[in-house]
Amino acid sequence: MRPARLTGDTISGRVTLVGAGPGDPGLLTVAGREVLSTAEVVVVDRLVSPEVVALAPSDAEIVYAGKSPGSHHLDQDGIHAVLVDRARAGANVVRLKGGDPFVFGRGSEEIEACVAAGVPCSVIPGVTSAFGVPALAGIPVTSRGSSQGVTVVSGHLPPGSANSTIDWRALAVSGNTIVVLMGVGQLGKIAAALIEHGRPGSTPVAIVERGATPAQRTTVSTLDSVDRDARTAGVRSPAIIVVGEVAAPLPVAGAASAPTLPLRGRRVFVPRSRSRSSALASALRHAGAEVLEETVVLPTADADALPASGWLVLRDEDDAVALREGLQRARRDARSLAGVRIAAEPAVAALAGLVPDAATVPADEPSATIPMSWEALPLSDAAVHALTSGDIDALAIPSSGTAAALGQIAQGLPPATKVAVMGERTSTAAAEAGLRVDGIAREPGIDGLVAAVTDFFR
Ligand code: SAH
Repeated sequence: MRPARLTGDTISGRVTLVGAGPGDPGLLTVAGREVLSTAEVVVVDRLVSPEVVALAPSDAEIVYAGKSPGSHHLDQDGIHAVLVDRARAGANVVRLKGGDPFVFGRGSEEIEACVAAGVPCSVIPGVTSAFGVPALAGIPVTSRGSSQGVTVVSGHLPPGSANSTIDWRALAVSGNTIVVLMGVGQLGKIAAALIEHGRPGSTPVAIVERGATPAQRTTVSTLDSVDRDARTAGVRSPAIIVVGEVAAPLPVAGAASAPTLPLRGRRVFVPRSRSRSSALASALRHAGAEVLEETVVLPTADADALPASGWLVLRDEDDAVALREGLQRARRDARSLAGVRIAAEPAVAALAGLVPDAATVPADEPSATIPMSWEALPLSDAAVHALTSGDIDALAIPSSGTAAALGQIAQGLPPATKVAVMGERTSTAAAEAGLRVDGIAREPGIDGLVAAVTDFFR
């Protein structure tokens, strides 16, 4: 699918506004995921879930535009400057915004800034929280019998405010559903204005907080009592407020709230090596976990220890990427391999820019694997914060290389955070890095590690 192209000219970089959906990465569009997977720079809003950000390539530059632990706040002009500067420098820039980029997201201002600067830009829509979050909570925003229309409004300004374009009287008089975003702070005033203009005080109101995340919660009330009920329940932003007859939730299990999954509501941290796919993360997500992934080690070939003759075997993606990295760092290229023959699957060899001589080494011929070292990378501020603040329920450590790299947070890990490891070698490496190991996969492989994590929460 091609996103709608709004402008285009000679600048080689570009900006794509991508709607990230309300939280659960399963609600990102296929088109959005594709663009994100090739991004070089990702500029992220506060409400975008870390699991969506994790779908960007591990070497992409991530710029946090909202207030979040360990990052500074960019104002709107600052965001425009980052988008335009990076695109002018030739980067494929993805601007990730919560929900849909054009629903209260200031997306239009960002497009205008790009257009003014002559930067090619386009938009991929997203599932807006205005409709997606009520649906996950079992609330249809329209219903043939009781509500044949729905109005989405911002609750940022109180009713009657001079700058407001919202006619609360018209909303009250109409029998249609009202969906309020950014309305938690003005909830009492909004309910009072609707009653004053004629909506019955008995009208149902539902508030859905943190929709499409494991923390999703629905509070049900009426216009008369919603202010008090919301205070009692401790309702906080981000939340969607639905007013109208439809606001009595149906008993459905939303995509993010299936009750039977064993890791539902648990947050699991997965350290990974650069080129490993995130099959482990996806298996944990299928078990219901919210997963935070971070690249903690970079496998690199030792260019000086490469063989000069015989066969060089590239077993997997890690080998190929390590070889490419190692040569680049040593300021060398494929000519360093002139004397060797390459045994690899074509797709694997291609990752190192090579064409293999054979898929496997012929019998009895001399061969060597890539001489490798694993370089630990510093954890991001966001990951350190999550790991040391008690935000994470468990670590799922897939390899000894990634275990060793976690030494940097071992001291700060709260005692309640459980640690599961892939096998004995990983367990030893974790212990050497100062981590306490609570569980070891009983069988090798991803399923065994997921089971070890699940065992913690039985
Ligand atoms: N562009 C976004 C809206 C941005 S305005 C979209 O289309 O969804 C921010 C407001 O959106 C929040 O104050 C809250 O009212 C709502 N919101 C966004 N994500 C939400 C979520 N996961 N759960 C509940 N409300 C959410």
